[in-house]
Amino acid sequence: MTYLLAVNLDIKYEEDKSSSERFLSAVRAVASLANGKNKVVIVSHRGRPQAREENLSLREFSPLFERKLKKKILFLDNAALKKAKEKITEAQSGSIFLLENTRFLKGETENSLMLAKELASLGDAFVNDDFPTAHRRDASNVGITKYLPSKMGPNFKKEVYLLSRAIDKPMKPFILIIGGAKMADKLGVIKNLLPKTDRILLGGGAANTFLKARGIDIGGSLYEEDMLAKAKILAKNPKMVLPIDYRKDGNKILDIGPKTVRLYRRMIGEAKTIIWGGPMGYYEDKRFANGSREIAKAIASSKAYSIVGGGDTDAVVRELKIGNKIDLVSTGGGAMLDFLAGKKMPALDALWRKS
Ligand code: ADP
Ligand code: MG
Repeated sequence: MTYLLAVNLDIKYEEDKSSSERFLSAVRAVASLANGKNKVVIVSHRGRPQAREENLSLREFSPLFERKLKKKILFLDNAALKKAKEKITEAQSGSIFLLENTRFLKGETENSLMLAKELASLGDAFVNDDFPTAHRRDASNVGITKYLPSKMGPNFKKEVYLLSRAIDKPMKPFILIIGGAKMADKLGVIKNLLPKTDRILLGGGAANTFLKARGIDIGGSLYEEDMLAKAKILAKNPKMVLPIDYRKDGNKILDIGPKTVRLYRRMIGEAKTIIWGGPMGYYEDKRFANGSREIAKAIASSKAYSIVGGGDTDAVVRELKIGNKIDLVSTGGGAMLDFLAGKKMPALDALWRKS
């Protein structure tokens, strides 16, 4: 039996690959299928290459997988998939392969069925463990399911299950905490969850747009002009909670202030379900990291069912080493936001259709 296993190795350039959550999830998924008899072909992608780009090759992951799994990994170039197939067939049972970046292949991001069929020919069954790509419609996560028996991998299943648990029948009070640079990214989540939540606590650039919409002078702070009209309508809703004081640099709001931290901490303490996405301020500068850190700590010490997601939000949680006190630190990024916004998830739908 040869499994094609999709995992997510699209890890930020600056991040240490071997300790990143996405890589460690991938290692766990491979280990769950590799029993010494099955062959496993790891399928993944990285960046948005227009063609072959050497710096987006997945080759460097081979030694990293070898070290963690203590097994030899055979790297497969994908320029000629026929040749790759021959290598897989000839290898002894139990062999583990890593296929080159699927985004080097023409038709991958267009969900070409011709490519999907070629990829499918490399194995006997497809296991998708790449939740962070579930909001995309690619040959390697949607088309391929037409040609192979397909199912979710352990991390994919876990993300879907834990995210659903939070939003399907949330234990109340349910609070959503939204920060980060752009409200536009998270507007879909706010709109979809507003009827279910008891409160939406705002921070970061997202809060600034709401403050301005309420007629408060925010000086030169980061905000989104084109979101003002929408923010004005939403700001009338009593569930929306805005910061009551700030930390500033000159005329720029760069973090929530101590009174807001106290207010938010109290609300977090009362909550039974919490979802947080987006830092409360310009946390990369230590002077403005306090708000985000205090929110992270309050969530970690609350008894609520808690979910945290987003690259920068995860960074705050990782730095404090409190990820184990949060029910789900989502690796999903854009896929998590689309899921919470109730949008279509092509790769997830494709798997559900099959099961
Ligand atoms: P995530 O990656 O967790 O989804 P975002 O990418 O939406 O979060 O937002 C993170 C960015 O928002 C960080 O770079 C942070 O510095 C910035 N940010 C948050 N609040 C402010 C603020 N008040 N002023 C300027 N930048 C801010
Ligand atoms: Mg970010």
